[in-house]
Amino acid sequence: MIGIADIMAAREQIADTIRQTPLLSSEQLSLQSGNCVFLKAEHLQKTGSFKLRGATNKVKQAVYAGAASVTTASSGNHGQAVAYIANKLGIPATIVVPEDVAVCKVEAIEAYQGKVEKCGLTSAERLPRAMEIAEQQKGVFVPPYDDPYIMAGQGTVGLEIMEELDDIDAIFVPIGGGGLISGVLTAIKETKPSIQVIGVEPQLANDTYLSLQQNQLVSHEGTTTIADGLRTSQPGDLTFPVLRKYVDDVVLVSEEEIRQAFTFVLERMKQLIEPSSATAIAAVMFEKTALRGKRVVTLVSGGNVDLAAMAGLIVK
Ligand SMILES: *Cc1c(COP(=O)(O)O)cnc(C)c1O
Repeated sequence: MIGIADIMAAREQIADTIRQTPLLSSEQLSLQSGNCVFLKAEHLQKTGSFKLRGATNKVKQAVYAGAASVTTASSGNHGQAVAYIANKLGIPATIVVPEDVAVCKVEAIEAYQGKVEKCGLTSAERLPRAMEIAEQQKGVFVPPYDDPYIMAGQGTVGLEIMEELDDIDAIFVPIGGGGLISGVLTAIKETKPSIQVIGVEPQLANDTYLSLQQNQLVSHEGTTTIADGLRTSQPGDLTFPVLRKYVDDVVLVSEEEIRQAFTFVLERMKQLIEPSSATAIAAVMFEKTALRGKRVVTLVSGGNVDLAAMAGLIVK
């Protein structure tokens, strides 16, 4: 299991690459939720998501260990982050994506000089291909969440939040494979354990919620949630034990609530966030916990939205 020392080390590793993102606040959101609400703005991070933190920590470590290239199998934010940092460090990156990938995602990866290879439609097809390329090219496969360097890198956002704001009562964090929340949990619970950390999942992708309830890894059979960064089918082997040890609660939000939160942030706060991040706002807006009159932070994990699909995310 990773510890706070790994997160401190990650922070030094990534300091010259990542941006320290601001905390935003909204009076209206605070009024509506009955808490004093802050938003940690990782949608303003380079590459548009927190994923650059873990990817930078992992790819730097791979380069020190002599890797000549890196590969991954994610077409989303993780793929963009790996392509970005590999390009900065001067090694090639191959990102294996599904045949039906959105054009905007291919363009984003290619804009960071990443090489895109299309393979199959499922992660079961893409993963082995990415690992095969890594082996052929004396490269390193960079997992999206289930890796100690990735988890420690993501945890650096927890340290930043504690430095930026005093007297925090709770932090709301979206959960996909659990890399982000396991890093944040380690940073918070090994520094200031009185801060509650609440995980948020879509009702349509509640694998972590069910896994905690049943005390074993439970997976779902695929999901159509609009929170596309949270569609991972089950928690990670390394991330799940951290959740089991430390997480205070996991709450669920509906697709309609995610759309409402997305629309609120766009219209009122003038911020473009992605549906995966709107889950954490929705949990606060729609009072999924008993917290009232508290200082709460929602972790806005990213802001990459396919503009062609945006009209479908807005409710009026
Ligand atoms: C990857 C991602 C998540 C989920 O992170 P995990 O480490 O997989 O739990 C949440 N939001 C956004 C925007 C992401 O890209």
